[in-house]
Amino acid sequence: MAIKRLDRLRRKRILVTGGAGFLGSHLIDRLIARGDAVLCVDNFFTGTRDNLAHHAPGGQLEIMRHDITFPLYIEVDEIYNLACPASPIHYQHDPVQTTKTSVIGAINMLGLAKRLRARIFQSSTSEVYGNPLVHPQTEDYHGDVNPIGPRACYDEGKRCAETLFFDYRRQHGLDIKVARIFNTYGPRMQADDGRVVSNFIVQALTGQPITIYGTGKQTRSFCYVDDLIEAFLRIMDLPEDVSGPINIGNPGEFSMLELAELVIELTGSKAGIVFKPAVLDDPAQRRPDITQAKDRLGWEPKVALRDGLGATIAYFDQHLRARS
Ligand code: NAD
Ligand code: UDP
Repeated sequence: MAIKRLDRLRRKRILVTGGAGFLGSHLIDRLIARGDAVLCVDNFFTGTRDNLAHHAPGGQLEIMRHDITFPLYIEVDEIYNLACPASPIHYQHDPVQTTKTSVIGAINMLGLAKRLRARIFQSSTSEVYGNPLVHPQTEDYHGDVNPIGPRACYDEGKRCAETLFFDYRRQHGLDIKVARIFNTYGPRMQADDGRVVSNFIVQALTGQPITIYGTGKQTRSFCYVDDLIEAFLRIMDLPEDVSGPINIGNPGEFSMLELAELVIELTGSKAGIVFKPAVLDDPAQRRPDITQAKDRLGWEPKVALRDGLGATIAYFDQHLRARS
Protein backbone atom coordinates (compact mmCIF):
# COMPACT_ATOMS: atom_id res chain seq x y z
CA MET A 1 0.00 0.00 0.00
CA ALA A 2 2.75 2.43 1.06
CA ILE A 3 4.77 1.62 -2.10
CA LYS A 4 1.79 2.29 -4.34
CA ARG A 5 1.24 5.63 -2.64
CA LEU A 6 4.90 6.56 -3.12
CA ASP A 7 4.64 5.62 -6.82
CA ARG A 8 1.70 7.93 -7.12
CA LEU A 9 3.62 10.75 -5.47
CA ARG A 10 6.63 10.22 -7.75
CA ARG A 11 4.51 10.35 -10.91
CA LYS A 12 4.87 13.41 -13.10
CA ARG A 13 1.60 15.30 -13.49
CA ILE A 14 1.25 16.51 -17.06
CA LEU A 15 -1.27 18.88 -18.62
CA VAL A 16 -2.22 18.19 -22.25
CA THR A 17 -4.43 20.90 -23.76
CA GLY A 18 -6.38 19.65 -26.77
CA GLY A 19 -5.87 16.14 -25.39
CA ALA A 20 -9.17 14.82 -26.78
CA GLY A 21 -8.07 15.59 -30.34
CA PHE A 22 -6.21 13.48 -32.86
CA LEU A 23 -2.61 14.16 -31.78
CA GLY A 24 -3.44 14.89 -28.14
CA SER A 25 -5.06 11.50 -27.59
CA HIS A 26 -2.04 9.67 -29.02
CA LEU A 27 0.30 11.75 -26.85
CA ILE A 28 -1.78 10.91 -23.78
CA ASP A 29 -1.55 7.18 -24.62
CA ARG A 30 2.26 7.42 -24.57
CA LEU A 31 2.39 9.47 -21.34
CA ILE A 32 0.05 7.09 -19.54
CA ALA A 33 1.97 4.05 -20.81
CA ARG A 34 5.18 5.39 -19.26
CA GLY A 35 3.44 5.94 -15.91
CA ASP A 36 2.61 9.66 -15.81
CA ALA A 37 -0.61 11.19 -14.50
CA VAL A 38 -2.31 13.27 -17.19
CA LEU A 39 -4.80 16.11 -17.02
CA CYS A 40 -6.53 16.54 -20.38
CA VAL A 41 -8.09 19.96 -20.89
CA ASP A 42 -10.34 20.31 -23.94
CA ASN A 43 -13.44 22.22 -25.04
CA PHE A 44 -14.40 19.35 -27.42
CA PHE A 45 -14.69 21.62 -30.45
CA THR A 46 -12.97 19.08 -32.72
CA GLY A 47 -11.95 16.47 -30.16
CA THR A 48 -14.08 13.81 -28.55
CA ARG A 49 -14.13 11.81 -25.32
CA ASP A 50 -14.29 8.66 -27.51
CA ASN A 51 -10.62 9.21 -28.38
CA LEU A 52 -9.78 8.62 -24.70
CA ALA A 53 -12.49 6.09 -23.84
CA HIS A 54 -9.97 3.24 -23.62
CA HIS A 55 -8.42 4.75 -20.47
CA ALA A 56 -9.91 3.42 -17.24
CA PRO A 57 -12.06 5.93 -15.33
CA GLY A 58 -10.39 6.97 -12.08
CA GLY A 59 -6.97 5.89 -13.36
CA GLN A 60 -4.02 8.04 -14.43
CA LEU A 61 -6.15 10.23 -16.73
CA GLU A 62 -8.39 13.10 -15.65
CA ILE A 63 -10.45 14.97 -18.25
CA MET A 64 -11.62 18.57 -17.78
CA ARG A 65 -13.91 20.51 -20.12
CA HIS A 66 -12.32 23.95 -20.39
CA ASP A 67 -11.62 26.52 -23.08
CA ILE A 68 -7.99 27.68 -22.90
CA THR A 69 -8.96 31.21 -23.90
CA PHE A 70 -9.96 31.46 -20.22
CA PRO A 71 -7.39 31.31 -17.41
CA LEU A 72 -6.72 27.98 -15.74
CA TYR A 73 -5.48 27.55 -12.17
CA ILE A 74 -4.16 24.05 -11.59
CA GLU A 75 -0.94 22.37 -10.38
CA VAL A 76 1.15 20.37 -12.89
CA ASP A 77 4.82 19.62 -13.58
CA GLU A 78 4.78 19.93 -17.39
CA ILE A 79 2.49 21.35 -20.07
CA TYR A 80 1.89 20.28 -23.68
CA ASN A 81 -0.16 22.97 -25.44
CA LEU A 82 -1.98 21.32 -28.36
CA ALA A 83 -5.42 22.96 -28.15
CA CYS A 84 -6.37 24.45 -31.53
CA PRO A 85 -8.37 23.11 -34.46
CA ALA A 86 -5.92 21.99 -37.16
CA SER A 87 -8.11 21.27 -40.17
CA PRO A 88 -8.60 24.29 -42.48
CA ILE A 89 -12.38 23.68 -42.56
CA HIS A 90 -12.57 23.71 -38.76
CA TYR A 91 -10.19 26.58 -38.08
CA GLN A 92 -11.95 28.73 -40.72
CA HIS A 93 -15.39 27.96 -39.23
CA ASP A 94 -14.89 30.52 -36.42
CA PRO A 95 -11.67 32.33 -37.35
CA VAL A 96 -11.82 34.81 -34.47
CA GLN A 97 -12.02 31.95 -31.96
CA THR A 98 -9.09 30.25 -33.76
CA THR A 99 -6.88 33.31 -33.29
CA LYS A 100 -8.05 33.65 -29.68
CA THR A 101 -7.22 30.00 -29.02
CA SER A 102 -3.71 30.40 -30.41
CA VAL A 103 -2.91 33.78 -28.91
CA ILE A 104 -4.95 34.18 -25.70
CA GLY A 105 -4.67 30.43 -25.13
CA ALA A 106 -0.87 30.70 -25.37
CA ILE A 107 -0.83 33.64 -22.95
CA ASN A 108 -2.93 31.68 -20.45
CA MET A 109 -0.80 28.54 -20.72
CA LEU A 110 2.45 30.51 -20.55
CA GLY A 111 1.14 32.35 -17.49
CA LEU A 112 0.35 29.01 -15.89
CA ALA A 113 3.83 27.70 -16.75
CA LYS A 114 5.40 30.85 -15.32
CA ARG A 115 3.56 30.53 -12.01
CA LEU A 116 4.46 26.84 -11.75
CA ARG A 117 7.98 27.20 -13.27
CA ALA A 118 6.89 24.28 -15.48
CA ARG A 119 8.40 23.27 -18.82
CA ILE A 120 5.96 24.02 -21.66
CA PHE A 121 5.69 22.56 -25.17
CA GLN A 122 4.00 24.36 -28.06
CA SER A 123 2.55 22.51 -31.04
CA SER A 124 3.37 24.99 -33.77
CA THR A 125 3.02 24.25 -37.44
CA SER A 126 4.56 24.28 -40.89
CA GLU A 127 1.84 26.86 -41.66
CA VAL A 128 4.16 29.48 -40.14
CA TYR A 129 6.05 29.13 -43.47
CA GLY A 130 2.84 29.99 -45.40
CA ASN A 131 3.21 29.44 -49.15
CA PRO A 132 6.97 28.90 -48.88
CA LEU A 133 9.52 30.49 -51.19
CA VAL A 134 12.28 28.30 -49.72
CA HIS A 135 12.13 24.56 -50.35
CA PRO A 136 12.54 22.35 -48.35
CA GLN A 137 11.69 24.53 -45.35
CA THR A 138 14.41 25.10 -42.76
CA GLU A 139 13.69 26.56 -39.32
CA ASP A 140 15.51 29.81 -40.15
CA TYR A 141 13.14 30.58 -43.06
CA HIS A 142 10.67 33.24 -41.90
CA GLY A 143 7.85 32.28 -44.23
CA ASP A 144 5.50 33.94 -46.68
CA VAL A 145 2.08 34.32 -45.05
CA ASN A 146 -0.86 36.36 -46.33
CA PRO A 147 -1.91 38.19 -43.13
CA ILE A 148 -5.46 38.91 -44.35
CA GLY A 149 -6.39 35.67 -46.12
CA PRO A 150 -8.68 32.86 -44.95
CA ARG A 151 -5.78 30.84 -43.49
CA ALA A 152 -4.36 33.80 -41.56
CA CYS A 153 -6.41 33.15 -38.39
CA TYR A 154 -4.44 29.93 -38.00
CA ASP A 155 -1.08 30.85 -39.56
CA GLU A 156 -0.74 34.25 -37.90
CA GLY A 157 -2.23 32.93 -34.64
CA LYS A 158 0.45 30.24 -34.52
CA ARG A 159 3.17 32.74 -35.50
CA CYS A 160 2.09 35.08 -32.69
CA ALA A 161 2.03 32.13 -30.27
CA GLU A 162 5.67 31.38 -31.20
CA THR A 163 6.51 35.05 -30.54
CA LEU A 164 4.88 34.81 -27.10
CA PHE A 165 6.75 31.60 -26.28
CA PHE A 166 10.11 33.12 -27.14
CA ASP A 167 9.31 36.39 -25.33
CA TYR A 168 8.35 34.44 -22.18
CA ARG A 169 11.71 32.69 -22.46
CA ARG A 170 13.64 35.95 -22.94
CA GLN A 171 11.62 38.03 -20.45
CA HIS A 172 10.78 35.46 -17.77
CA GLY A 173 13.38 32.72 -18.28
CA LEU A 174 10.69 30.14 -19.05
CA ASP A 175 11.73 26.65 -20.20
CA ILE A 176 9.96 26.41 -23.57
CA LYS A 177 9.99 23.83 -26.37
CA VAL A 178 8.53 24.61 -29.80
CA ALA A 179 7.84 21.97 -32.49
CA ARG A 180 6.81 22.93 -36.02
CA ILE A 181 4.60 20.05 -37.11
CA PHE A 182 4.15 19.15 -40.77
CA ASN A 183 1.02 17.33 -42.03
CA THR A 184 0.40 14.32 -39.80
CA TYR A 185 -2.15 11.56 -40.26
CA GLY A 186 -3.31 8.34 -38.66
CA PRO A 187 -6.07 6.64 -36.69
CA ARG A 188 -8.46 8.91 -34.72
CA MET A 189 -8.60 11.67 -37.28
CA GLN A 190 -12.30 12.52 -37.49
CA ALA A 191 -14.07 11.11 -40.57
CA ASP A 192 -15.48 14.60 -41.29
CA ASP A 193 -12.26 16.37 -40.35
CA GLY A 194 -11.79 17.78 -43.87
CA ARG A 195 -8.03 17.19 -44.04
CA VAL A 196 -6.76 15.50 -47.15
CA VAL A 197 -5.80 12.05 -45.84
CA SER A 198 -9.05 11.45 -43.94
CA ASN A 199 -11.11 12.90 -46.80
CA PHE A 200 -9.49 10.69 -49.44
CA ILE A 201 -9.73 7.53 -47.34
CA VAL A 202 -13.34 8.07 -46.28
CA GLN A 203 -14.32 8.89 -49.87
CA ALA A 204 -12.57 5.79 -51.21
CA LEU A 205 -14.09 3.50 -48.57
CA THR A 206 -17.62 4.83 -49.09
CA GLY A 207 -17.51 4.59 -52.89
CA GLN A 208 -17.39 8.34 -53.55
CA PRO A 209 -14.94 9.93 -55.99
CA ILE A 210 -11.84 11.44 -54.39
CA THR A 211 -12.02 15.27 -54.36
CA ILE A 212 -8.85 17.02 -55.49
CA TYR A 213 -8.78 20.80 -55.00
CA GLY A 214 -7.05 22.54 -57.91
CA THR A 215 -4.66 20.67 -60.19
CA GLY A 216 -3.50 18.15 -57.60
CA LYS A 217 0.10 19.13 -58.30
CA GLN A 218 0.45 20.85 -54.91
CA THR A 219 2.63 18.81 -52.56
CA ARG A 220 2.66 17.90 -48.87
CA SER A 221 4.85 15.68 -46.70
CA PHE A 222 2.91 13.26 -44.53
CA CYS A 223 4.12 11.98 -41.16
CA TYR A 224 2.53 9.01 -39.40
CA VAL A 225 1.24 9.88 -35.93
CA ASP A 226 3.41 7.36 -34.00
CA ASP A 227 6.59 8.89 -35.46
CA LEU A 228 5.40 12.37 -34.54
CA ILE A 229 4.59 11.57 -30.92
CA GLU A 230 8.02 9.98 -30.42
CA ALA A 231 9.53 13.30 -31.53
CA PHE A 232 7.31 15.26 -29.08
CA LEU A 233 8.64 13.23 -26.15
CA ARG A 234 12.24 13.68 -27.28
CA ILE A 235 11.77 17.45 -27.70
CA MET A 236 10.32 17.71 -24.20
CA ASP A 237 13.44 15.97 -22.85
CA LEU A 238 15.90 18.41 -24.46
CA PRO A 239 18.13 20.41 -22.12
CA GLU A 240 16.77 23.75 -20.87
CA ASP A 241 18.90 25.86 -23.23
CA VAL A 242 17.46 24.16 -26.36
CA SER A 243 14.00 25.50 -27.24
CA GLY A 244 13.70 25.01 -30.99
CA PRO A 245 11.74 25.67 -33.07
CA ILE A 246 12.34 22.21 -34.53
CA ASN A 247 10.66 20.91 -37.69
CA ILE A 248 8.96 17.56 -37.20
CA GLY A 249 7.66 15.78 -40.26
CA ASN A 250 8.39 13.18 -42.90
CA PRO A 251 10.52 14.56 -45.73
CA GLY A 252 8.87 12.27 -48.30
CA GLU A 253 7.02 14.69 -50.60
CA PHE A 254 3.90 13.73 -52.58
CA SER A 255 1.50 15.58 -54.85
CA MET A 256 -2.21 15.30 -53.98
CA LEU A 257 -2.63 13.39 -57.23
CA GLU A 258 -0.01 10.84 -56.10
CA LEU A 259 -1.73 10.58 -52.72
CA ALA A 260 -5.10 9.98 -54.39
CA GLU A 261 -3.63 7.27 -56.61
CA LEU A 262 -2.04 5.53 -53.62
CA VAL A 263 -5.31 5.60 -51.66
CA ILE A 264 -7.17 4.20 -54.69
CA GLU A 265 -4.59 1.41 -55.01
CA LEU A 266 -4.70 0.51 -51.30
CA THR A 267 -8.51 0.58 -50.98
CA GLY A 268 -9.37 -0.84 -54.40
CA SER A 269 -11.84 2.04 -54.90
CA LYS A 270 -13.51 2.19 -58.33
CA ALA A 271 -15.08 5.64 -57.89
CA GLY A 272 -12.19 7.62 -59.40
CA ILE A 273 -11.18 11.24 -58.89
CA VAL A 274 -13.10 14.50 -59.26
CA PHE A 275 -11.38 17.90 -59.56
CA LYS A 276 -12.81 20.83 -57.53
CA PRO A 277 -11.82 24.51 -57.64
CA ALA A 278 -8.51 25.37 -55.95
CA VAL A 279 -8.78 26.86 -52.45
CA LEU A 280 -7.44 30.37 -51.75
CA ASP A 281 -3.87 30.65 -50.42
CA ASP A 282 -3.33 26.87 -50.65
CA PRO A 283 0.45 26.37 -50.29
CA ALA A 284 1.91 24.95 -53.53
CA GLN A 285 4.61 22.83 -51.91
CA ARG A 286 5.77 21.77 -48.49
CA ARG A 287 8.59 19.57 -47.23
CA PRO A 288 10.47 19.78 -43.95
CA ASP A 289 14.21 19.97 -43.66
CA ILE A 290 14.65 17.74 -40.58
CA THR A 291 18.41 18.16 -40.10
CA GLN A 292 17.86 19.72 -36.65
CA ALA A 293 15.55 16.91 -35.54
CA LYS A 294 18.13 14.34 -36.65
CA ASP A 295 21.05 16.14 -34.97
CA ARG A 296 19.38 17.27 -31.75
CA LEU A 297 16.88 14.45 -31.14
CA GLY A 298 18.46 11.53 -32.99
CA TRP A 299 15.00 11.28 -34.61
CA GLU A 300 13.73 10.57 -38.06
CA PRO A 301 10.42 9.09 -39.17
CA LYS A 302 10.28 5.30 -39.61
CA VAL A 303 6.81 4.74 -41.11
CA ALA A 304 6.57 4.95 -44.91
CA LEU A 305 3.46 6.58 -46.38
CA ARG A 306 2.21 3.30 -47.86
CA ASP A 307 2.40 1.56 -44.45
CA GLY A 308 0.89 4.44 -42.50
CA LEU A 309 -1.94 4.74 -45.00
CA GLY A 310 -2.55 0.99 -44.68
CA ALA A 311 -2.97 1.33 -40.89
CA THR A 312 -5.17 4.43 -41.27
CA ILE A 313 -7.38 2.76 -43.90
CA ALA A 314 -7.83 -0.25 -41.57
CA TYR A 315 -8.87 2.14 -38.76
CA PHE A 316 -11.41 4.01 -40.90
CA ASP A 317 -12.76 0.77 -42.36
CA GLN A 318 -13.55 -0.52 -38.86
CA HIS A 319 -14.78 2.88 -37.66
CA LEU A 320 -17.15 3.40 -40.59
CA ARG A 321 -18.54 -0.14 -40.30
CA ALA A 322 -19.19 0.37 -36.57
CA ARG A 323 -21.08 3.61 -37.37
CA SER A 324 -23.31 2.17 -40.06
P1 NAD B 1 -7.54 18.30 -33.55
O1 NAD B 1 -8.50 19.29 -34.08
O2 NAD B 1 -7.84 16.85 -33.70
O3 NAD B 1 -7.28 18.57 -31.99
C1 NAD B 1 -7.33 19.84 -31.40
C2 NAD B 1 -7.97 19.71 -30.04
O4 NAD B 1 -8.00 21.00 -29.40
C3 NAD B 1 -9.42 19.21 -30.09
O5 NAD B 1 -9.62 18.20 -29.14
C4 NAD B 1 -10.23 20.46 -29.79
O6 NAD B 1 -11.50 20.16 -29.23
C5 NAD B 1 -9.30 21.19 -28.83
N1 NAD B 1 -9.53 22.64 -28.77
C6 NAD B 1 -9.68 23.51 -29.79
N2 NAD B 1 -9.84 24.77 -29.32
C7 NAD B 1 -9.75 24.69 -27.95
C8 NAD B 1 -9.84 25.64 -26.90
N3 NAD B 1 -10.03 26.95 -27.14
N4 NAD B 1 -9.71 25.20 -25.63
C9 NAD B 1 -9.55 23.88 -25.36
N5 NAD B 1 -9.46 22.93 -26.31
C10 NAD B 1 -9.57 23.34 -27.60
O7 NAD B 1 -6.13 18.65 -34.19
P2 NAD B 1 -4.74 17.85 -34.13
O8 NAD B 1 -4.39 17.40 -35.48
O9 NAD B 1 -4.74 16.88 -33.00
O10 NAD B 1 -3.74 19.06 -33.77
C11 NAD B 1 -3.25 19.26 -32.45
C12 NAD B 1 -2.28 20.43 -32.45
O11 NAD B 1 -1.21 20.16 -33.36
C13 NAD B 1 -2.91 21.75 -32.90
O12 NAD B 1 -2.38 22.79 -32.10
C14 NAD B 1 -2.44 21.90 -34.32
O13 NAD B 1 -2.35 23.26 -34.69
C15 NAD B 1 -1.09 21.22 -34.28
N6 NAD B 1 -0.71 20.72 -35.63
C16 NAD B 1 -1.26 19.58 -36.12
C17 NAD B 1 -0.89 19.15 -37.38
C18 NAD B 1 -1.44 17.88 -37.99
O14 NAD B 1 -1.13 17.58 -39.14
N7 NAD B 1 -2.21 17.08 -37.28
C19 NAD B 1 0.03 19.88 -38.15
C20 NAD B 1 0.53 21.05 -37.61
C21 NAD B 1 0.19 21.46 -36.33
N1 UDP C 1 -7.05 18.73 -50.46
C1 UDP C 1 -7.66 18.14 -51.55
N2 UDP C 1 -8.85 17.48 -51.37
C2 UDP C 1 -9.44 17.37 -50.14
C3 UDP C 1 -8.81 17.98 -49.03
C4 UDP C 1 -7.63 18.65 -49.23
O1 UDP C 1 -7.15 18.20 -52.68
O2 UDP C 1 -10.50 16.74 -50.07
C5 UDP C 1 -5.76 19.40 -50.65
C6 UDP C 1 -5.69 20.83 -50.11
O3 UDP C 1 -6.15 21.75 -51.07
C7 UDP C 1 -4.21 20.96 -49.83
C8 UDP C 1 -3.78 19.55 -49.42
O4 UDP C 1 -4.81 18.69 -49.90
O5 UDP C 1 -3.52 21.32 -51.00
C9 UDP C 1 -3.63 19.38 -47.92
O6 UDP C 1 -4.82 19.84 -47.31
P1 UDP C 1 -5.11 19.68 -45.74
O7 UDP C 1 -6.41 20.39 -45.48
O8 UDP C 1 -5.01 18.26 -45.34
O9 UDP C 1 -3.90 20.41 -45.00
P2 UDP C 1 -3.10 21.78 -45.22
O10 UDP C 1 -3.59 22.48 -46.46
O11 UDP C 1 -3.36 22.55 -43.99
O12 UDP C 1 -1.69 21.33 -45.38
